[in-house]
Amino acid sequence: MSEIDPRWPLLTVDVELTNICGQNCLFCPREAITRPQGVMSYALFEKLIRQLAAAGSRVIFCGMGNPLLHPDIAEIGRLCRSLPLNYGLTVQAPALDAAGLEKIARLQPAFIEVSFPAVDESEFAVIFPGQKMADSLSGLHNLIRQRGSNRGITINAVMTAGSKVSDSQIKEFWASHGLSCRVHPCHSRGGNLEKAELLLAKPRPVKACGLFATHSFIIWEGNLLACCHDLENSTVISDLNSTLLLEAAARKVAILQSGSMPFKICQSCDEPAAGRPIPDRPFPASIKARSRFLKKLNC
Ligand code: SF4
Repeated sequence: MSEIDPRWPLLTVDVELTNICGQNCLFCPREAITRPQGVMSYALFEKLIRQLAAAGSRVIFCGMGNPLLHPDIAEIGRLCRSLPLNYGLTVQAPALDAAGLEKIARLQPAFIEVSFPAVDESEFAVIFPGQKMADSLSGLHNLIRQRGSNRGITINAVMTAGSKVSDSQIKEFWASHGLSCRVHPCHSRGGNLEKAELLLAKPRPVKACGLFATHSFIIWEGNLLACCHDLENSTVISDLNSTLLLEAAARKVAILQSGSMPFKICQSCDEPAAGRPIPDRPFPASIKARSRFLKKLNC
C-alpha cells in the first residue's frame, strides 16, 4: 500500500458533543452502550475544533446522542464560525421541534443531515414510538423557512428488510419536497442492533476499512475510536486530551498499512461504507476539491 497522508482519516470527522438523547428510535442500540453518558467540556471542544479546522476536516456533530442537547451550543456555534471550518450536524426528524429549531438557529451549521428513515406513516410511528410523521414533516419545513432555503439540508433514509416503500419511491417523495435524499440499507451498527427482521446489509470480515481510512469519530470524553459503532470504548486509537489529532490520524494510517484491522468488531462488519476505496492520491488541497471527492463517495 502506498503512503497515505495522515489527513485522509480526518477528511470527515464525527464529533460527539454528547451521547445523551431523549429519543427512543427503533434503530438505536442504546441498551448496548456501556461507556458513560455525558457532554464534551467546552475546553476540550475548543482544543479539538481548532485542530480539526487546521486539518481541513468536514466536521459533523453527531454520535450516539442528540448534539442539540449540549448546554453550550451557542458558544460552540460562535467558535465554529470564527474558524475556516465546514461544520454541520445530524438530527433525528422528531428533534426538529421548536426547541430543536431554536438550538439550530444558534449553532448555524453549514449543513444538516436529517434522519427521516421512513416516508410511510405507519413505519415512521414504529421507528419513532409516540411520534407523528406529519409533525416531523412540519418541523422540517419550519427548518427550511428558518434557514431561508433548503440549501445544505439532506435527508438520510433507511431501507429495512420489511420496508413497504422502494428506494426510488423514497427519493421521489423527497424530490417532491425539494430535498435530496440518501437511502441506506439497514445495518447492525457493529453487531449491536440485534433486530434481524430489520437488517439488509450483509456482514463480512474487513481487512482494510475505507470508512476508517477517510473518517474519524471522537467521543464526548475525547477518545478517538476506530469506529462509530464501538459502543464500549473498546477500539481506542488515542485519547485526544493528551494526544494531537494528527498523531492519532497517523496511528490510523499505520493500522491501515499493517494490512489488517486489529479490532474484533471488524471481523463481521455490515457497514456498507467500510467498502469505500482506500485513498491512493494526495489529500485534496482545497475545500472545493474535498467536497467533490465526498460527492463521489455519496456523502
Ligand atoms: S470495518 Fe466496520 S467495524 Fe471496522 S472500523 Fe470499518 S466500519 Fe467499523
